[in-house]
Amino acid sequence: MKPAGFDYVAPATLDAAVEALAAANGEGKLLAGGQSLLPLLNFRMTRPAVLVDLNGIKELSFIEKRGDHVAIGALTRHRDIEHSPLIASDLPVMSAAMRHVAHLAIRNRGTIGGSLSHADPAAELPMLAMFYDARLAVQGPGGRRTIAAKDFFVDALTNCLEPEDIVAEIEFPILRHDGWAFEEAAKRFGDFALASVALSIRRGASGIEDARVAVMGVADTPLRLGDVEKRLVESGIDGRISDRFAEWVASSVTPNSDLHASGEYRKHLLAGLAKRAMTTALAMKG
Ligand SMILES: Cc1cc2nc3c(=O)[nH]c(=O)nc-3n(C[C@H](O)[C@H](O)[C@H](O)COP(=O)(O)OP(=O)(O)OC[C@H]3O[C@@H](n4cnc5c(N)ncnc54)[C@H](O)[C@@H]3O)c2cc1C
Repeated sequence: MKPAGFDYVAPATLDAAVEALAAANGEGKLLAGGQSLLPLLNFRMTRPAVLVDLNGIKELSFIEKRGDHVAIGALTRHRDIEHSPLIASDLPVMSAAMRHVAHLAIRNRGTIGGSLSHADPAAELPMLAMFYDARLAVQGPGGRRTIAAKDFFVDALTNCLEPEDIVAEIEFPILRHDGWAFEEAAKRFGDFALASVALSIRRGASGIEDARVAVMGVADTPLRLGDVEKRLVESGIDGRISDRFAEWVASSVTPNSDLHASGEYRKHLLAGLAKRAMTTALAMKG
């Protein structure tokens, strides 16, 4: 199919994009990598009156270290994140997860701002935003404001943005941890995840001092498992820690069944992935 007709604007600055989107009076759509939007347009599942193309806005494409966090511009392509030495050294879980994002051609075009805004519950970047406790800088006609990732993802494919808002950049705090892992299961490598676990830990003399755990593919939004993090810190490290972790993670979720997998199967997968993640994280030298 072909999209319904629309007006097209290609602003060169973020301010001009905000203006163009506001002028569309709620009938505008932003175009980033187009990997999710173009199928929706072609199937006429969305019919914007105006398409505001962000691709000419150079200021939205960057990866920068700023003190204790890494800032990534909304138009930064998946492939640039995947191959960034800065991301590999300071956000290693993100670096490991990026090669699971779709296939090469999609990673060449897809952007972090588009992926977060699309809010697919089985997409890696929304999960990573929850995992790292990211902050999204959003620009609208009233200026710039910051939204925490935990408030951004409202439901499957639903975020908390107003129609005239643009995600400008995302800040990811750096975790000072010494063990981590990212584990995912999909029907074919590069497909959307059936289930996935991200884990990062810092060990001390008495066991795990700090932990970060997030999962995806098992709820309508990605989830950070704060209770499991707490239990990891309270529990010592012994020969059964990976099994205990797997049980805690699996019992924290109640996945729905769909055409890809039953809820029970996803839960079972998640337990296996969690066990593997903990084994990998603990095997890393502190
Ligand atoms: C076959 C296939 C397989 C895929 N598999 C995976 C996968 O395994 N994992 C995964 O994570 N993703 C997967 N994707 C999705 C891919 O990562 C997309 O790139 C991503 O979801 C959307 O990014 P985009 O830049 O292409 O956004 P677009 O398609 O251009 O836009 C998506 C939505 O976000 C809005 N938007 C875009 N930029 C902004 C912004 N800065 N501020 C506010 N709103 C904005 C748009 O208006 C639109 O509503 C897959 C896609 C395809 C086609």
